[in-house]
Amino acid sequence: MSLNKQPVKNISFLTGFFILIVLLAGCESPSSPYVLYKGQTMGTSYHVTISGDFSSANRGTLQVEIDERLRSVNQSFSTYIKQSEISEFNRYQGLDAQKKSKAFMYLLEEALRISKITQGAYDITVGPVVNLWGFGPDFKADDIPNEAEIKAALQSVGYQNIHLDVEAQQLSKREPQLYLDFSSIAKGYGVDQVAELLESKGHVNYMVEIGGEMRVKGVNPDGNDWRIAVEKPDTSVRSIHKIINVSNMAIATSGDYRNFFEIGGVKFSHTIDPLTGRPVQHNLASVTVLDKSCMTADAWATAFMVLGSKKGYDLAMENNLAVLFLVQDGDSIRNLATPRFQAMIKERIL
Ligand code: ADP
Ligand code: MG
Repeated sequence: MSLNKQPVKNISFLTGFFILIVLLAGCESPSSPYVLYKGQTMGTSYHVTISGDFSSANRGTLQVEIDERLRSVNQSFSTYIKQSEISEFNRYQGLDAQKKSKAFMYLLEEALRISKITQGAYDITVGPVVNLWGFGPDFKADDIPNEAEIKAALQSVGYQNIHLDVEAQQLSKREPQLYLDFSSIAKGYGVDQVAELLESKGHVNYMVEIGGEMRVKGVNPDGNDWRIAVEKPDTSVRSIHKIINVSNMAIATSGDYRNFFEIGGVKFSHTIDPLTGRPVQHNLASVTVLDKSCMTADAWATAFMVLGSKKGYDLAMENNLAVLFLVQDGDSIRNLATPRFQAMIKERIL
């Protein structure tokens, strides 16, 4: 099914990679006014849609402010920027405490909370292994590392090696090679930051999206709930699996169908099991999480990709989370949604 032929309009595509957006042109009746901002950040694209209209002077200022907010997020959390707060921490091999920004501590606390609940399936210290498999900031040809390399990279992995002193706003390493990787959570945090900026300007009807992680509030330009398309987990074509209607919610998806390489018919995805030091291999194709906070939804989506659908579902139930697992069942995709997810969406299936 081609995107342009979708009979519905005002759909946002929830994908890891592609643009989504949004107000699919040329369908049905013309859209009501809206303002759209887009740009690049965190190695991907962002889109911000605000329903309604406002003065062109304010529009221009807002574009600058959005970019500035995202630049500041990157300056703290990007391992691709050598002088970022995270890169400085990663380079430093001393074990003494270092002062970090409030934002840094905030993100770290949330990551550690989820690491504890998942007993280390989610672990932001897994970076050296991610890099070894070629999914980090440095280019690396696709190949399978040997056991000794994996063992060596796993040496410094373990969220217990981070010591946090929240009151003093300080953290220290218990392991000199400790390396943090916020790729699983920073986009969600960036979305929350832009949403906060919009709120501070009084906007109440908007959608913010960075690389497929998004947050919506109020109504779309036509005055209806925002419609989000959950993508079919397919490596070759883009199509819609289902459409959900939501408002006042963040939505994050992780999947194994975009960022991976294949050798000898085996797929190696960028989700690493910290226990084995290898990309996860199971039949969970994608996970979509709804939460008030996009940061939290983003981290959980990655965590569930590590856990798989069975353990993941049980943990989602224990923690009363809104999660949709898309499970590969032979040639077809099976939906496994928690009751909370069902309750939070007004589902439409094409
Ligand atoms: P995407 O970046 O495509 O949105 P995710 O949000 O799932 O996908 O983040 C995937 C990234 O998370 C990987 O590229 C890697 O940097 C990091 N990662 C991989 N495995 C883990 C893990 N077990 N715990 C925390 N982060 C991980
Ligand atoms: Mg994530």
